[in-house]
Amino acid sequence: MKHSASALLLIALLSPASLASPATTADETTRYLRVQDGRQLEVLISNQFKPAMRDNLMQWVDYIAAALGGVYGHWPTRHWQISIAPTAASSSEPIPWAQVRREDITRVEFFTAAFASADELQRAWTSYHELAHLLIPYQGSGDAWFSEGLASYYQNILQARAGLISEREMWQRLYNGFQRGLAETQFDGQALQAVSDRLREDGGFMRVYWSGAWYFLAADTRLRLQSGGKLSLDKALERLNQCCAEERLPVPEIVARLDQLNRVVLFSILYDEVANSTAVPPFAAIFASLGIDIEDGQIRLQETGPGARLRRGIVAVPAPAL
Ligand SMILES: [Zn+2]
Repeated sequence: MKHSASALLLIALLSPASLASPATTADETTRYLRVQDGRQLEVLISNQFKPAMRDNLMQWVDYIAAALGGVYGHWPTRHWQISIAPTAASSSEPIPWAQVRREDITRVEFFTAAFASADELQRAWTSYHELAHLLIPYQGSGDAWFSEGLASYYQNILQARAGLISEREMWQRLYNGFQRGLAETQFDGQALQAVSDRLREDGGFMRVYWSGAWYFLAADTRLRLQSGGKLSLDKALERLNQCCAEERLPVPEIVARLDQLNRVVLFSILYDEVANSTAVPPFAAIFASLGIDIEDGQIRLQETGPGARLRRGIVAVPAPAL
């Protein structure tokens, strides 16, 4: 298993985590408990997994939980669960299916291959996407583009911060995502809000997910630019987490509170702009302000200059709040 220096830092930041002995429950899962700064993560692992796989799963869970915890210096919710069951379908993917359930206790459900190494599990992007959904309070139904955009943006950031992908690869993946969104031209001319509301019926996942990711990239870049690097999306979301993590807030309320808590006029205006956008908004100017060049579809990162400094701040693990 490979760990980069930044991944080790992440894990070190989040220790000590206490470990209770696993208990078998009636519904044939084994329960593991992780406690960190008074916050609890229950891990429910199906007994259908062999013991060696259960060890791999727990190694992986500790790794991804540390990656998520690196954003605010703690997990976003006081009590949460991860449940893991083997997938019935044969698949070459280590994690073919996953979803977040926001019930009384927030639960992330993973369906994995019957056997996979901890390294293979850690390298699958799916878990970073699912865990990133927890960074904001539950928004209820509606505005799927917002939470999917958040998860699509942060899945790449979390992988880069953990050292699983390079900074260049992270920007390449965002670029590729925007291109996939732009390529879904059958929804051009329709407002994102409308496409998002009919996502399950009509499709349009790439347009919806990557327009949403654009929202968070645009917000992050503007915050950092306007504040000379003092503000960031991490910090803005952390303030929302501090006040309102356990509330249920529709997205217009989330963006209003983000503006209010961070004393900025940004999130609500950008929300209206993106909800009414009729294609993935242009990203070239944002990339240019971050010292990112595009040549024949390939990302080139500028090494020096104000853009490069700003851009590196996005991949750096945030310093813990004092
Ligand atoms: Zn998602």
